[in-house]
Amino acid sequence: MRVVIIGGGISGLATAFLLQQQAQEQGRSIALQVLEAEPRVGGKIRSLLSEKGYLCEWGPNGFLDGKPATLDLCRRLQIAEQLMRSDDNARRRFIYAENRLHQVPENAGAFLRTGLLTPAAKMRMAAEVFIPPRRSEEDESLADFCRRRLGRQALDRLVAPMVSGIFAGDPESMSLASCFPRIRQLETDYGGLFRAMFRLARRRRAEKRAGKAVASASGPAGVLTSFADGLQRLPDRLQQVLGEQVEVCAPVLALEPAASGFALHLGDGRRLQADAVVSALPAYDFADLVQVFDQPMADLLREIPYASLQVVCLGFERRHIAHDLNGFGFLMAHPNPLPMLGTLWDSSIFSRRAPEGRVLLRSMLGGASRPQVADWDDDTLVQETRSALRQTMGIAAAPEFACVFRHRRAIPQYPTGHGRRLQELRHRTGLYPGLHFTGNAFFGIGLNDCVSAAQATADALFSGGS
Ligand SMILES: Cc1cc2nc3c(=O)[nH]c(=O)nc-3n(C[C@H](O)[C@H](O)[C@H](O)COP(=O)(O)OP(=O)(O)OC[C@H]3O[C@@H](n4cnc5c(N)ncnc54)[C@H](O)[C@@H]3O)c2cc1C
Repeated sequence: MRVVIIGGGISGLATAFLLQQQAQEQGRSIALQVLEAEPRVGGKIRSLLSEKGYLCEWGPNGFLDGKPATLDLCRRLQIAEQLMRSDDNARRRFIYAENRLHQVPENAGAFLRTGLLTPAAKMRMAAEVFIPPRRSEEDESLADFCRRRLGRQALDRLVAPMVSGIFAGDPESMSLASCFPRIRQLETDYGGLFRAMFRLARRRRAEKRAGKAVASASGPAGVLTSFADGLQRLPDRLQQVLGEQVEVCAPVLALEPAASGFALHLGDGRRLQADAVVSALPAYDFADLVQVFDQPMADLLREIPYASLQVVCLGFERRHIAHDLNGFGFLMAHPNPLPMLGTLWDSSIFSRRAPEGRVLLRSMLGGASRPQVADWDDDTLVQETRSALRQTMGIAAAPEFACVFRHRRAIPQYPTGHGRRLQELRHRTGLYPGLHFTGNAFFGIGLNDCVSAAQATADALFSGGS
């Protein structure tokens, strides 16, 4: 079987590697090819070491070890021993609200003491145990879910900042079921979030007493994990292991179903034949390829919106910053008057991100609610970041290092109705046996989600499903 995977981000590379492993395990013969348009693999994953010695992540700065997918992939690639867990202090996360940074409460005592929420808002949150579960099957927005179960202030000061940190998204339009399926499941299975927390904590205690292995105390989310020289080690290793099966500078310009399989037209004029094709592309690039033979499929793909995000890395001399930087960083509560969504204290999260005596702060600007920020020039982005850091953290010093990364279409958003759209997409691709799709536009945006989806795609390819 000849399989072509289009796109050499984590989704495409992981699909290729997992397919190859599966073929070897089952003694099946498979000819694989990964085609990547850019001169490098990794897509959104890219680690850049500046001349001054700052290690800047262009996109993701790690994956969570609470889910097994990426960790497992690293083990299979024999690079698990090189993994680096984030500093313990990075468990402390902050939210900027009411003109100051508040540590996100981690336990009941801290919740009672925090000034992040008013006493009335805390009471409203506590009342969640009395709110009956929603029985409707209709997709609900994250904001509606939070207002219904936890109250308005919990949405503005806890959930909305978290959502902008993950999706750069707007909770008013995001689908709860597609963005946070686990939360929806907890309401369905246990009747509410606090009820689920109590029951799961009881179960964990019982399992611990019975001597069973129990998930880490940091909860299902896990610990942020990367490599000493940055996350790019992961796609680089995949490329190394896959060898000549990965081709860079190989944009696919056209795709067409053929009498048997597919024909692909490449940028350099080559024409390839494949029995099966996996798109590991952003939805809009996949749409460009399918529109010549299936306009409804292209329309569905183009309905998936993307939020833009500008990443501004600033390096400072440590002695110029009064703040202890003891934590992960902070996110902005809603309503947020600043263009900044939040700032990660990168050199506090992982060692070796800044030279000795220096610190690296990485701020995110723009997001779904402020698309116009994508049009600002680099100087404006740096000035706006400095002004926001002065207001939120009291940093008046000039940075000794600055760089800006732009993602015009950074993160796919899953608005309400995303699940139905996926079903329709599956129906359309099912009309072309051998056509598969994976990637962060569909089944989750985290690296763990991309790797899990890659595994499901590899399984489907071998089983003949879609
Ligand atoms: C700023 C930022 C921070 C993030 N932080 C985190 C984080 O900390 N943790 C986390 O888990 N996730 C994070 N994410 C999300 C995560 O990085 C992405 O969801 C994931 O990397 C997407 O991988 P992908 O392979 O699906 O897509 P992509 O990385 O977008 O790869 C798609 C590839 O397809 C290629 N391509 C496009 N068109 C063609 C064509 N015609 N022919 C051939 N190739 C083509 C592209 O060049 C690209 O390499 C972050 C994302 C961003 C933008």
